Amino acid sequence: MKVALFWHRRDLRRHDNAGLAAALQSGLPVVPLFIYDTDILDHIPRPQDARLTFIYDEVERLAGQTEAAGGTFLARYGKPAEVFQQLLRQYDIGAVFANEDYEPYALRRDTAVAELLEEHGVALTLLKDQVIFAKNEILTQSGKPHRSFGPYRTAWLAALRPDLLHPYPSAELFAPARLVRLLDAVPRPTLADMGFERLEQYVPAAELPTDDLVRRYHETRDFPGLVNSSTRRSVHLRFGTLSVRELMHQAQTLNPKLLAELVWRDYFMMLLWHYPFTAYESYEPRLREVPYRNDETEFQRWCAGQTGYPLVDAGMRELNQTGFLHNRARIAVASFLIKHLLIDWRLGERYFADKLLDYDLALNVGNWQWVAGTGVVAAPWFRVYSPASQLRSYDPELEYVHRWVPEFGTSTYSTPLVEHKAARQRAIDTFRQAYQTAGHR
Ligand SMILES: Cc1cc2nc3c(=O)[nH]c(=O)nc-3n(C[C@H](O)[C@H](O)[C@H](O)COP(=O)(O)OP(=O)(O)OC[C@H]3O[C@@H](n4cnc5c(N)ncnc54)[C@H](O)[C@@H]3O)c2cc1C
Repeated sequence: MKVALFWHRRDLRRHDNAGLAAALQSGLPVVPLFIYDTDILDHIPRPQDARLTFIYDEVERLAGQTEAAGGTFLARYGKPAEVFQQLLRQYDIGAVFANEDYEPYALRRDTAVAELLEEHGVALTLLKDQVIFAKNEILTQSGKPHRSFGPYRTAWLAALRPDLLHPYPSAELFAPARLVRLLDAVPRPTLADMGFERLEQYVPAAELPTDDLVRRYHETRDFPGLVNSSTRRSVHLRFGTLSVRELMHQAQTLNPKLLAELVWRDYFMMLLWHYPFTAYESYEPRLREVPYRNDETEFQRWCAGQTGYPLVDAGMRELNQTGFLHNRARIAVASFLIKHLLIDWRLGERYFADKLLDYDLALNVGNWQWVAGTGVVAAPWFRVYSPASQLRSYDPELEYVHRWVPEFGTSTYSTPLVEHKAARQRAIDTFRQAYQTAGHR
């Protein structure tokens, strides 16, 4: 029997899923598929990995839903092209559907899989799902990506039509008549089969935040000490366990500030698609050779949350212990690393990549380069946040600091690693010199 495969990647949900809806409307019985990609898993440094545990649980949940609806969910472990070769041998595949993924590795992977499928006369159909506007959909009048967020957001809002936030009917279409039970399906791999162990970190339910939280978002979002300061839905947006359309629709109805933050997400994904080299290189050519100090001891103190700057230390400890970090603290720790310690933003970016449950290449790189002032988004390289004034503004009652740095205020708390004024001046001088020297070449 000819079947259509729906390949889940960063869209681990059945509802409001563009690619899944298209597969279910293709006229062929659908078999959902997930591939534990060894090109990615082989780079995970430790056997306990919270992100993989999260993915595994979500895949198993989807598999349970599929079986309950009378279908089969395939999960395979290997390199995607090799897995597809096996599947092409085992099944009569008529079509493959998936949602677009804009990361450089994903684009290469999808091209390779599309070519392989084409050799067998099978089309890989990709649909836009994880953003509202992608690639070239929002450009300047001269046809270039916006380098400022404000005009991008204005153009984005002007282009938004109500139907773009309507849910796709994938859950409604997910019925026995459109699925198929494969009797010879290979058992799905377990974490242990893949050489991993469980590591659970707290993740809020994959549900929309409460209307109350969203209504107050603009008042609470800057205060990491508050329990419900922000939505904490980033993990779900990362893995697609929530649909961005449903969260945007809620934000559009209740709070434009939250909608604007979600537009940043579209923005950074668009920028990485246009400038894939920014994943590992500063966009600004004049800031590609900043003579960073990259002092190993200071880097380790930053990682451990022992810099003597309480907002920075609270942030790093929250990150290390929970896999999450509040946006204000992300900005504070990133700025401190790059400017106060003069450590290359790429080392911080990699550290976040290792620790964050919501790690997303486009958002992480985009934000690190924004803080550094080296990115596509025009942000001043001479901006150096003062950790003390950030603390006064965003944690005035020291709730956040006391939660994560209990020894703060006692004699056991670290002395400051660097003196703010001197470090600030050193950063500005170093960046200025690099900028001017490169400009004269
Ligand atoms: C140095 C640095 C690194 C970052 N790395 C990541 C990352 O790897 N993954 C990630 O999801 N976010 C990243 N962010 C953006 C932001 O900090 C997180 O999205 C946010 O803190 C997640 O918490 P939340 O869901 O409660 O956010 P909320 O404030 O509730 O915002 C809702 C959603 O809007 C989007 N959003 C909010 N702020 C931003 C932003 N600055 N840029 C892009 N999208 C945004 C996110 O999808 C977020 O989940 C980074 C920010 C900085 C400064």
